[in-house]
Amino acid sequence: MEAVILAGGKGSRLSGRSNGLPKPLVPVGGKALIEHQFELLARCGVRRATLLCGFGAAAVRGHCGDGARWGLQLKYVDESAPLGTAGAVMAALPELPEQFLVLYADTMVNVDLDRICAAHAASGAQATLFLHPNDHPWDSDLVETDQNGRVVAIHSYPHPEGALLPNQVNAALYVLKASSLSGFALPSQPLDFARHVFPELLRRGVHLHGYRSPEYIKDVGTPERLDHVEADLRNGVVARSSLSVRCPAVFLDRDGTINEETSYITRPEQLKLIPGAGEAIRRLRDSGYRVVVVTNQPVVARGDCTEAELRRIHDCMEMQLSREGAFLDGIYACPHHPDKGFAGERPELKFACDCRKPAAGLLAQAVAELNLDLSQSWLIGDSTSDVQTAANCGVRSVLLRTGRAGRDGRYAAAPDFEFENLLEAAQFIAESQPAVERSNACIGLL
Ligand SMILES: [Zn+2]
Repeated sequence: MEAVILAGGKGSRLSGRSNGLPKPLVPVGGKALIEHQFELLARCGVRRATLLCGFGAAAVRGHCGDGARWGLQLKYVDESAPLGTAGAVMAALPELPEQFLVLYADTMVNVDLDRICAAHAASGAQATLFLHPNDHPWDSDLVETDQNGRVVAIHSYPHPEGALLPNQVNAALYVLKASSLSGFALPSQPLDFARHVFPELLRRGVHLHGYRSPEYIKDVGTPERLDHVEADLRNGVVARSSLSVRCPAVFLDRDGTINEETSYITRPEQLKLIPGAGEAIRRLRDSGYRVVVVTNQPVVARGDCTEAELRRIHDCMEMQLSREGAFLDGIYACPHHPDKGFAGERPELKFACDCRKPAAGLLAQAVAELNLDLSQSWLIGDSTSDVQTAANCGVRSVLLRTGRAGRDGRYAAAPDFEFENLLEAAQFIAESQPAVERSNACIGLL
């Protein structure tokens, strides 16, 4: 795979910090911002990159040279006039290969590029968009996907009051086939990927894939954001966010653990967070864990709720969590149920699967997709089925006194710890067993 880096940014909002340098050359953590991207490309085996330059092109060229310092071969294409993100790429198409990654030089990014490229290849899509959950989805462009990750809608900010949307923010990283842009005429006005090209491709029925990942990508466009990114660099947040780094997880059950246990939840408006759930998830993530929901949802097999409706319920949960400053690294749900013979059920989902807890399938899928270290992980839940799942998977278990509080009594495994609620459990794990030291040591920061 080759890369294209949009490097024409002026960085005017950073003027107090940039000494007149173009944005890609603003120092971040002791080196030019774009050098972090060069190092990422080299780590992921990307050897060639084309820089699309505008403002300060000569300075960018002078600084980056032929790229040999980073083990890269760099080429340059200069924009004659500002064409927007997509316009700049379209103007450079004659110089570009059939398929390439697009990065923005005004972002700090640490993404396992092998994984997104593999997902792009497996999907067969014309373009793959990197999507990540964040803690301010209400003022971001959000992308809706189906159960296979195909993009079905793009919701540009601002969003209607009370809209129920997925916390999947379109971030500045794509994999594109050059042919995906062949239907567009070279623009006379600036043309933007997020605002113009992807919505138009979707209208034309072009296959766009959404690659959801919790990895690090943040723009460095203002002094405040620059300070934030520098702090994340110092604290190891940037380094350990890559899915190329194996990381411990805290697995969370859903009903009775994160949200109030009612009978079965089949509609988004029934989902109500247990007080402290957002703070708990935030603390676990801050202490270096990936936080992953694993939940049995037999409502789907019973025919009470479709897969799409289940996603809406999870959208609702994630939106409520984001208002508490929290987001999840992943959500894994088993839609199956073993017992057949009820009215309205979906027979194709009625079988003894290997993902319904206490089976290990949901955790195994998360381990593969999120590169998790089970030996240092935890599972927190409110039922004996959660405790048994933890025992079956070799992770430490916490039983909560919320929800069913272990009164289901279906499995014999004893929990390693018991706490009143998720927040208490999270405080205990974050304070006494933080994963930060361990994962930072793995990536050589300590
Ligand atoms: Zn299942």
